[in-house]
Amino acid sequence: MSVPLILYDNYTRSLREFGPLHPAGEVGIYTCGPTVYDYQHIGNFRTFLFEDLLKRVLRWNGYRVRHVMNITDVGHLTSDADTGEDKMEKGSRRTGQTAWEIAALYTQAFLDDLDALNIERPDVLPRATGHIASQIEFIVDLERKGWTYRTGDGIYFDTSRQVDYGYLARLDKSGLEGGRRVDLGDKRSATDFALWKLSPEGSTRQMEWDSPWGKGFPGWHIECSAMAQHYLGDYFDIHCGGEDHIPVHHSNEIAQTEARVGTRLANFWMHGYFLLANDAKMAKSAGEFLRVQALVDRGYDPLAFRYLCLTGHYRSQLNFTWDALDAAATGLARMRSGFHALDAVPAEADEGLVARFTAQVNDDLNLPRALAVAWEALRGELPGPVKRATLARFDRVFGLGLEAWRPKVESVPADIDALAHERVAARKAKDWAEADRLRALLRDAGWDMEDRPDGYTLKRR
Ligand code: AMP
Ligand code: ZN
Repeated sequence: MSVPLILYDNYTRSLREFGPLHPAGEVGIYTCGPTVYDYQHIGNFRTFLFEDLLKRVLRWNGYRVRHVMNITDVGHLTSDADTGEDKMEKGSRRTGQTAWEIAALYTQAFLDDLDALNIERPDVLPRATGHIASQIEFIVDLERKGWTYRTGDGIYFDTSRQVDYGYLARLDKSGLEGGRRVDLGDKRSATDFALWKLSPEGSTRQMEWDSPWGKGFPGWHIECSAMAQHYLGDYFDIHCGGEDHIPVHHSNEIAQTEARVGTRLANFWMHGYFLLANDAKMAKSAGEFLRVQALVDRGYDPLAFRYLCLTGHYRSQLNFTWDALDAAATGLARMRSGFHALDAVPAEADEGLVARFTAQVNDDLNLPRALAVAWEALRGELPGPVKRATLARFDRVFGLGLEAWRPKVESVPADIDALAHERVAARKAKDWAEADRLRALLRDAGWDMEDRPDGYTLKRR
């Protein structure tokens, strides 16, 4: 394809032409996954949707993709400053289940929601607790190279030794030093972070492991550096996450990997910007916590939320309101019925429209403009089958499931269905009087029964 794929790289703070590190191989992508101490909210899913769209656009450009997403099931503390409780232990107390049980429960709920939103599952979904050995190995290596120090509660990474620490976030280190803005505890610098936390004396955690430093558990950042390296190598194509990861989590991932192998993990660093609820941050700790199920409970198709996310560029925050979701649901319904009104005879997509679509998605994933091209296609003058073929092709990126969608079939109450079955049996037995009686009963209940060679249909009168 002749239009280059341009992506915004937060590391260089610039739009850059994407080229794969291994032209003949797969594009390696690592995306930070859910912390499975609770359900994910629709804000989290906005980020996962952005990452899904990125994968689809890479494929649109002819690349094969290898996607690794971690499941954080240990070590993510309630405070980014390495204090506070492990979110998993906190979730365990909240629910009365073990940390292992809630990890399994919320991982499954996460996967179900991915499916509901037509988000393709990652190729590899490694759990942090399944990779403790490679995290310990990573830390041992850092220790050997002199990047670590020990405090009363763990092993820490010494950020003062790294000249460009925090470059991704353009952190002003001097402004953070001296403990003025952050409670340092035993840390030497405010930006230093835990690699391994020791289990507190005299207490047993549900999740803890032996290590060269004593019983404890890994820090949150080391899991991503270790698993990314394990599955994608020292340097891979793209690393993604939500915008909140820029100043701490991703800055720390880069610091560790740079210290161990000398790379900044990934060639491109891309971030999805937040979904807001009524113009405020949507967070599990705050009141506004909407799950995909909450949309379903209100009668929305989860794909209406997917459509809503297509209407905003991933590098702008998007404000969620019910009115906005209504508008998206209407847009989706019109696109579906418009699509299904088109003749389904084989045809080629319109190359002019395909080229314009490519220009938009390759312009740093401009999905809102790509959606506008789709509407033009639907409303334009081309023959129906060509429109249909063109939209079906676009939907490989949108992921709205246009072809698979079917209008809802009216559901028939069980007692009506039972009467219809009795009538079929009566007709088989050539008991015409009984068959007529049952037909009259159905009619009185508001249903017309039509006999067909392959069975029957029931229609509301
Ligand atoms: P967590 O389960 O907290 O580790 O978050 C999972 C993903 O969702 C991360 O990539 C976060 O950056 C992202 N995220 C968290 N809150 C939001 C939000 N309100 N909007 C978009 N993405 C979010
Ligand atoms: Zn991560």
